[in-house]
Amino acid sequence: MACKSCGSEKQRYFSGELSVAFLAIEKLKQAPVYVVQKILVCLDCGYAEINVPTAQLEQLRKGT
Ligand SMILES: [Zn+2]
Repeated sequence: MACKSCGSEKQRYFSGELSVAFLAIEKLKQAPVYVVQKILVCLDCGYAEINVPTAQLEQLRKGT
C-alpha cells in the first residue's frame, strides 16, 4: 500500500500513544482521550494513519 500523501512505498507500523484533546474553548477542562494503537508512518514524508478503537471513538462522540 502506498502513502496517501506522497505515494511512497516506505511505510512501517509503529506502536504509538496519542492524546486527543477537544479544540473548543468550553471543552478545555474535559479530559483528553488516550489512544494506544498501531500507527502507520510514511518514512519519506511523515504522513501517519491511525484507527481509533471503538471505545475511544465513543468517548470522542460523547464529548462533541
Ligand atoms: Zn509519504
